[in-house]
Amino acid sequence: MNFDLTSEQLMLKKMMTEFADEVVAPGADERDRTKQFPVEIFKQMAELNLMGLPFSEEYGGAGADSTSFAIVVEELSRACGSTGITYSAHISLGGAPLSLFGTEEQKHKYLSKICSGESFGAFGLTEPNAGSDAGGTRTNAVLKDREWVINGSKCFITNASHASFLALTAVTDKEKGSRGITAFIVPTDAPGFTVVDNYEKLGLHSSNTTELILENVQVPEENMLGKEGEGFKQFLITLDGGRIGIGAMAVGIAQAAHDKALQYAKQRTAFGNSLSHFQAIQHKLADMAMQIELARNMVYKAAWLKDKGRKFTKEAAMAKLYASEVAMSATHQAIQIHGGYGYMREYQVERFFRDARLLEIGEGTSEILRNVIAREIGC
Ligand SMILES: Cc1cc2nc3c(=O)[nH]c(=O)nc-3n(C[C@H](O)[C@H](O)[C@H](O)COP(=O)(O)OP(=O)(O)OC[C@H]3O[C@@H](n4cnc5c(N)ncnc54)[C@H](O)[C@@H]3O)c2cc1C
Repeated sequence: MNFDLTSEQLMLKKMMTEFADEVVAPGADERDRTKQFPVEIFKQMAELNLMGLPFSEEYGGAGADSTSFAIVVEELSRACGSTGITYSAHISLGGAPLSLFGTEEQKHKYLSKICSGESFGAFGLTEPNAGSDAGGTRTNAVLKDREWVINGSKCFITNASHASFLALTAVTDKEKGSRGITAFIVPTDAPGFTVVDNYEKLGLHSSNTTELILENVQVPEENMLGKEGEGFKQFLITLDGGRIGIGAMAVGIAQAAHDKALQYAKQRTAFGNSLSHFQAIQHKLADMAMQIELARNMVYKAAWLKDKGRKFTKEAAMAKLYASEVAMSATHQAIQIHGGYGYMREYQVERFFRDARLLEIGEGTSEILRNVIAREIGC
C-alpha cells in the first residue's frame, strides 16, 4: 500500500493549484454571469501540454496516468466548475474513445488535434428520448456508395460548439437493438450538421452545452469508430473513465465549498464568538472534511485500478456517485454556514451549489449508478 502521490503527480498538483488560483479563479464569477466560454484558459493549458494529458506522446499527448487527470480536473473545478467540466469532457468523452477505439490513421488525424488543443473533444450519446436508456438511440446511419448518411439529433452535448469533429452514436441495424449501435467521427462543419448553443442552465454557465441536428450528414466509410455494432459497448467503457473525471470534479467543488465555509466561519462573529467556535458549525466542517477525503480516496482508487489495467467499473461508479453526493451536501452546508450571505452571488458558494447539481445527473444519474453498483456486486 502507498497513499503518497508520485513526485510527478505532486509537481503537477502544485502547478495546477497555482494555475487554478492565479489563472482560473479570478474570472470565474464574471464568466458565470456572462456565460463566456473560458477559451483563453485553455490556450494556456495547451501551452502547458495539458490538453492531451493521458494520451500517448505519439499523438501529441503527455502520456500521464489517470490519477494525474483526476488531479487536473479537481484543481480546475475547485476554481471553476465550468472549466472543470470542459476539460473533463474534452479528455474523457472527446479524446478517450478515439484513443481506445480509433485506428492509427484516425488517431493521427483526430486525437492529435485534441492533444494540441486545436479542437475541443466532445461525445454525442444522449438524445431527446434516449438518456439513461441510451439503447433507445434513434439517430440512424445508412451506408450508401461508401458514405454513411446520418440523420437524427442529440441533446445536452458538452463542448460541441468548440469541436471541429466529435464521436457520436447512431443505429446501423435496428433489428439488433443495442448491438445495432455504431460510433462515427463526424466533422462539425459537415453539410447538414447544426450545433445549437441555446440552453438556459441552472449552473456551469460558462461551459458549452449544445443540441446537435443531423440532416443527411455524410461521412466517409472510414469515419466509423471501432467496429459496426460496437458503439453501445464502447460508450459504456468510455463512461467508466468519464466517471473518474466527474468524481474529481465533485471533489474539487466540494473542496472549494469547504475552504470558503471554513474561512467565513473563522471571520464571522455572532453572540460574541467566531462561528468556528460553535460546535454545530465545527461538526458541519468536520463532516465536510471527512467526506471530501473519502471521496478523493475513492476517485484515486478508481484511477489507480484503471492504470493497472484492472476492472474499475464498480469503483468508478462508486467514486462518481459518492463524490457527487458529497459535493451537494458540502455546497449546501457551505451556504448554511454563510447564512444570508451564502444566498448572495458575491460569496461564491451559491455558484458552487448550482454547479454541483449537474454531477448527480451527467454521465450516469445517481439512480443508474446504483443500478451499476448493484449489478457489479451480483444483485
Ligand atoms: C450540462 C449537461 C452536460 C451533458 N453533457 C453530455 C455530453 O457531453 N454527452 C452526452 O452524450 N450527454 C451529455 N449529457 C446528458 C446526460 O448524460 C443525461 O442527461 C443523463 O444521462 C440522464 O439522461 P436524461 O436526461 O435523458 O434523463 P432520463 O434518463 O430520462 O432520467 C430521468 C430520471 O429517471 C431516472 N431513471 C431513468 N431510468 C431509470 C432506471 N432504470 N431506474 C431508476 N431510475 C431511472 C433517472 O435517474 C432520472 O432521475 C449532459 C447533460 C447535462 C445536463
